[in-house]
Amino acid sequence: MAERSQTAPEAGNDMGNDDAIGGNVSKYVVLPTGYCGQPKKGHLIFDACFESGNLGRVEQVSEFEYDLFIRPDTCNPRFRVWFNFTVENVKESQRVIFNIVNFSKTKSLYRDGMSPMVKSTSRPKWQRLPPKNVYYYRCPDHRKNYVMSFAFCFDREEDIYQFAYCYPYTYTRFQHYLDSLQKRNMDYFFREQLGQSVQQRQLDLLTITSPDNLREGAEQKVVFITGRVHPGETPSSFVCQGIIDFLVSQHPIARVLREHLVFKIAPMLNPDGVYLGNYRCSLMGFDLNRHWLDPSPWAHPTLHGVKQLIIQMYNDPKTSLEFYIDIHAHSTMMNGFMYGNIFEDEERFQRQAIFPKLLCQNAEDFSYSSTSFNRDAVKAGTGRRFLGGLLDHTSYCYTLEVSFYSYIVGGTTAAVPYTEEAYMKLGRNVARTFLDYYRLNPLVEKVAVPMPRLRKEKSLPYKHPFLRGSASNYPNGKGDKKSPMNHKDTSNPF
Ligand SMILES: [Zn+2]
Repeated sequence: MAERSQTAPEAGNDMGNDDAIGGNVSKYVVLPTGYCGQPKKGHLIFDACFESGNLGRVEQVSEFEYDLFIRPDTCNPRFRVWFNFTVENVKESQRVIFNIVNFSKTKSLYRDGMSPMVKSTSRPKWQRLPPKNVYYYRCPDHRKNYVMSFAFCFDREEDIYQFAYCYPYTYTRFQHYLDSLQKRNMDYFFREQLGQSVQQRQLDLLTITSPDNLREGAEQKVVFITGRVHPGETPSSFVCQGIIDFLVSQHPIARVLREHLVFKIAPMLNPDGVYLGNYRCSLMGFDLNRHWLDPSPWAHPTLHGVKQLIIQMYNDPKTSLEFYIDIHAHSTMMNGFMYGNIFEDEERFQRQAIFPKLLCQNAEDFSYSSTSFNRDAVKAGTGRRFLGGLLDHTSYCYTLEVSFYSYIVGGTTAAVPYTEEAYMKLGRNVARTFLDYYRLNPLVEKVAVPMPRLRKEKSLPYKHPFLRGSASNYPNGKGDKKSPMNHKDTSNPF
């Protein structure tokens, strides 16, 4: 039985209680009590001093068991959910139990079968641990906090193992992804720096549209998409990348969408929080999604930049801002779903339901029944609520949520865990749903029909969607089951 472990000099010894966690552990060596020599194989070394890393403290409970403390968000100790750390110097067949003991939330998908992610040097693809090795329970030893414990057996001595709350998606990965898109020299893809974070990281803004739509004086129908305002919500980035990948592709639907719409995408609203490994907040401890009403240029510069741009577009008579979608991940719900606003105007309220209904037809993991419309006071500072109040009756503002864990496919009760690819697929389905939306919506259809240039494009391998179908398909929302534009892969329960 070991007592509190010794620490590496970098880690310091001042982490005796929950409130004292300062930074991430740095090559923190766990040695048995009274042991003074060099670390031997099996004396685990924990590290979280890397991008998006998070582990604040380690305490050895016994030879096999370790209590692990999440480092709270910078300048905001209320949020402790995201973890991401490595373990090395393991012995072959070494069995351990790791207890994550200081979650700030009690409700969790761990109760429903979610498990932490793991990868190792020789197996670099992230996997979810088997749920049977994961326990989530209220623990009397930790102020009755909910604790998530998981058993693990290390199998390769040379490997460095990494554990995380969900698939990581770092700022650097995002920058490399955008660099690779830029190198393709697509004449319908534009990247600019809309601003900088407090720590001088880029706030990237992408514009994806046919160059014709950017001519001087051209009228623009804009879809505005944002992501990662909450840095620990990594699925947001995979969904967003799925949207971007689809929109820049040569898929015929993507081409039509680029012809008709201007997509403005700010995929990472909180680059500092992402870099630092926070769950919810910015460097200065702000939940940026509660500051839309009055963002400060120095305390919330990325939010301020995006809001300025949206207001500028709103005031431009040539620009019609039609959609605003902010992408998040949800820690207690299954599936993808949306939050929308409540309006006095019943017709506007009904029209707002069209997009999520169409998305539900296209994406097997998206649930219309989980989609809800609200005006909670607590959400007043969110992008969706603020812009829903600002923009006129032809604009729709949504929060798109996707589960950190899984979705349930129609006709079954089994939860299918999300993969990186499944998150990206949801993004692709969001993008293609704009096609269905503009085909069905009578208001837009009027505008879309007189587009003679597309009528002449006989080479298009499908009927142009803006010229077919009928508004009468709505409001039952069933769509045209034989339509090649109906992309649902399997039947949908919702
Ligand atoms: Zn969120």
